[in-house]
Amino acid sequence: MSDDDFRIETRSIHAGQEPDEETGALMTPIHANSTYEQDAPGDHRGYEYSRTGNPTRTDLEANLASLENAEHGRCFSSGMGAINTVLNLLEAGDHVVSGEDIYGGTRRIFDQVYTQYDVEFSYVDMTDLDAIEAAFRDETALLWLETPTNPLMSIVDIAGAAEIAHDHDALCAIDNTFATPYLQRPLDLGADVVTHSLTKYLGGHSDVVGGALLTNDDELDERFGFYQNSVGATPGPHECFLVLRGTKTLPVRMDRHCDNARELAAWLDDHPDVDTVYYPGLESHPGHDVAAEQMDDFGGMLSFELDASLDEAAEFVSSTDVFTLAESLGGVESLIEQPATMTHASIPREERVAAGLSDGLIRASVGVEHVEDLKADLRQAMESALE
Ligand code: PLP
Repeated sequence: MSDDDFRIETRSIHAGQEPDEETGALMTPIHANSTYEQDAPGDHRGYEYSRTGNPTRTDLEANLASLENAEHGRCFSSGMGAINTVLNLLEAGDHVVSGEDIYGGTRRIFDQVYTQYDVEFSYVDMTDLDAIEAAFRDETALLWLETPTNPLMSIVDIAGAAEIAHDHDALCAIDNTFATPYLQRPLDLGADVVTHSLTKYLGGHSDVVGGALLTNDDELDERFGFYQNSVGATPGPHECFLVLRGTKTLPVRMDRHCDNARELAAWLDDHPDVDTVYYPGLESHPGHDVAAEQMDDFGGMLSFELDASLDEAAEFVSSTDVFTLAESLGGVESLIEQPATMTHASIPREERVAAGLSDGLIRASVGVEHVEDLKADLRQAMESALE
């Protein structure tokens, strides 16, 4: 049987990995190695130099490709390294249509790096397919999506957006970090490229930084390989090993992340000190129906608005014991943050509030601890921080 015959729970453990032929060792070794013996000049056994290719990285790339139902996978030293590689495809004069509430680092590389090379960006409300269509120009080469978005968990119709991109002969790339391939497989819905920050759920333990690109397009994959080698933002074998260990438990971790987040979202929704809960699994969420259609479950990220001032909300996130006050997401441990003073602090207040990011907005990466301990922690932090 080939990997394709198995379900994702089985592929996450086995795809891309075979026991070592010589020793029988089950786990892919960390090939801590920069160069490779050649049998004759130019006659090598598949590897010449580890920036170009490394066997630990090869197994991870094959594993991730299998999870995303992709023909090809390429790994990078960070999520931003992967995103930069997609942008390497652009030429001066090109235009990009992007969602307005994308990851801040992606916005930074767009606005502060690629505009220097005469690439233009338009930011639109991606929940509105007409707004996406209206933003396209003759020079538009790329549509950039994230769904669910950060921090309001807005949902973009991936199939609808990809169709618009293709009608305009543009590529559709999507950052699938929040959902993971366990919950959402954008290539099946028409996207051309999927990007990941492996630092998050795929690594899963907050102990590694990495990125990946997945595609079914042979030509695109070849160019990504060329950029891996030419630009050099490739991960080391230790990082690849850690992510490979993480992907083995992705399905079981995601099931618990989703269950805990669903239960916390419902509990917060009923709480008198909470104004709005942003979780696509709630029927009241404006993107619920699209999310139910294109995702297998609703993920482990949620946000909520406390009925609180900026200072009270800051006090709340500083008062939790189980939730750790920290940026990032996707590890087994629960994290909490205040976008207004942390991840989105660089946006001027008026602009931030207009975009729906109020002073009392809290974002949580719900971990896999016992959900009653998580509830109790939020309850005691509210009691200690709010009047
Ligand atoms: N994409 C999303 C959605 C993210 O949240 C992040 C980081 O927080 C990135 C990309 C960048 O990934 P990395 O930090 O691995 O470079």
